[in-house]
Amino acid sequence: MRLWGGKHCLLCDNEIESEVSWRSLFAQEQPSRVCGSCHEKFVQISGETCTICGRPLTLLEAEYRSGSVCLDCKRWEDDERWTGSLDKNIALYTYTNFTKEVIARFKFRGDYVLAEIFTADFLKALQVFQYDYIVPIPLSEERLYERGFNQAEAVIRAAGIVPSRVLTRVHTEKQSKKSRNERIHLEQVFNVESDLDLRGKTIMIVDDIYTTGSTLRHAAKLLKENGAVKVYSLTLAR
Ligand SMILES: [Zn+2]
Ligand SMILES: [Zn+2]
Repeated sequence: MRLWGGKHCLLCDNEIESEVSWRSLFAQEQPSRVCGSCHEKFVQISGETCTICGRPLTLLEAEYRSGSVCLDCKRWEDDERWTGSLDKNIALYTYTNFTKEVIARFKFRGDYVLAEIFTADFLKALQVFQYDYIVPIPLSEERLYERGFNQAEAVIRAAGIVPSRVLTRVHTEKQSKKSRNERIHLEQVFNVESDLDLRGKTIMIVDDIYTTGSTLRHAAKLLKENGAVKVYSLTLAR
């Protein structure tokens, strides 16, 4: 358990209302590093969600869902190369403009301390899972140099957990320049480079945003090829 670290909101710098009342509102949770009104701006994902990617199903038209999964996930599952690669993704927040802004500030401005914003919700979401190793999606060396830190790893460490660096990047080319199709069919994005024995293990992957699900599925598939039995993922937003 971490100690109470500060009284000012990491986002708006307003004083966080009495520690006691704030904490008692969310009993048994981490003390928050954001004030109540900033925390409310994050739209937490709730209600019925796709059982694979965690996308809220309530907002989708019937034609974009197939039973308990969304159409995107159905397409992945229908492709035999990808069937069962990722068992389940949980996203903390909907990717609203506010969330986008906070994540961008955290990521691109190198505001490492902002990782603590997510700690309380991150730990709460993790409680649902049992896993052996928690693995951040790695950045390319190029991006790591640009940003100074890996944001997924920062979120894990801020929560007081030691990440297992199991994956490394194969190529450094910016994925955003490629089409969805190119990304999906890229040969290999990651390598497993670790002394850890993954056989029979359950892995929790952490990334910042779930977009197409391609990155996470590449990682999950590779981890399973290396013996993992279950691969979950947790993202800040989707
Ligand atoms: Zn605030
Ligand atoms: Zn889905």
